Amino acid sequence: MLSMKYEQSFIPNIEDGWTLFLDRDGTINKRNMDGYILNWDEFEFLPDVLESLAIARAYFDRFIIITNQQGVGKELMTRDDILDIHEKMSEEIAMNGGIIDEIFTCESLATDYQNCRKPSPEMAFLAKDSFPDINFRKSVMVGDTSSDIEFGKSVEMKTVLVNAGVDYAGPPPDLIFDHLPAFVEALSLYHAKT
Ligand SMILES: [Mg+2]
Repeated sequence: MLSMKYEQSFIPNIEDGWTLFLDRDGTINKRNMDGYILNWDEFEFLPDVLESLAIARAYFDRFIIITNQQGVGKELMTRDDILDIHEKMSEEIAMNGGIIDEIFTCESLATDYQNCRKPSPEMAFLAKDSFPDINFRKSVMVGDTSSDIEFGKSVEMKTVLVNAGVDYAGPPPDLIFDHLPAFVEALSLYHAKT
């Protein structure tokens, strides 16, 4: 019955050529509500995310992470700290059967004039420069905040909010789940039955 529920959504349309865009903090790993993830010791994958990323690989040609990290702009951490976290995160995902094709990080401060941070679509355009086959209308943005949903909508991606237990006051996403693994479960249940 779960598969029927998604009949009217974009889930049935997912086929070859789709791209999955993912937020990082709060979607892949636990957010640090007091600040930033400053090093690998502070990075903790959310439950079942590693398995889900491997399963989701069957439905998407590319996985791209889009992340705002103004801890660099605030000089709380360096670009090398971020690269180290991302290298270890990507290795862990790969060891579990997933692949991250690219990670785009915006280090600007929120207060910078005209910065690259989500909800600006700038990192989406950088992704398209790197992977010209990307079709935003055949892309899904998954994230836990309104800036993720606004980012996706600004280039006509499908949007999925994953924010169990957190208040949300942004534009309506196409679908809402408690967390990323629940979205991937819906995808695999739907496509297993069709
Ligand atoms: Mg987030």
